Amino acid sequence: MKIGVLALQGAVAEHIRSVEKTGAAAIAIKHKEQLQEIDGLIIPGGESTTIGKLMRRYDFIDAIREFSAQGKALFGTCAGLIVLAKHIESGEESHLGLMNIWVSRNAFGRQRESFETDLPVKGLDQPVRAVFIRAPLITKVGQTVDVLSTYKDEIVTAREGHILVSSYHPELTDDFSLHQYFVDMVQKKK
Ligand code: GLN
Repeated sequence: MKIGVLALQGAVAEHIRSVEKTGAAAIAIKHKEQLQEIDGLIIPGGESTTIGKLMRRYDFIDAIREFSAQGKALFGTCAGLIVLAKHIESGEESHLGLMNIWVSRNAFGRQRESFETDLPVKGLDQPVRAVFIRAPLITKVGQTVDVLSTYKDEIVTAREGHILVSSYHPELTDDFSLHQYFVDMVQKKK
């Protein structure tokens, strides 16, 4: 089994390291043709407008939609969550538009712009060490979306079938439990 990390911008090396800790193989995805080699794809944090722009430039939009249509698993963290969402609250055009969620960018107030916390997540025995950096919030979810965690009543982890998202960065700590959860999702699909 092989997991790809979209390597257009953002925390790519950290995700690769976290996936490898689960025992699965991980590669950086720089060309859409590489999607054929992988079973699951992580879209990292960074800056969603930039990632969206680069995805359009390098022809990733349709390629990733096709990847998803095959039922292959996707995991978006922070900006990656925004890129996967069907609705962006500011009225900005969506990017991949694959997950039935509404997101608000940079939604945590100023003094909470960046912080770390231990976050209980449905389906995991231990809380996840979560790093929030100018993080987005999920403001609303469609009926088929499962909310996996909230922080101060705001939705920060969710799953819709084969798509998993987190508002925070799970790859910036030594805790790889959410990556393990994703690898298990990919394994079940395979
Ligand atoms: N604030 C960024 C955005 O709106 C996301 C931040 C992140 O990925 N750490 O795209």
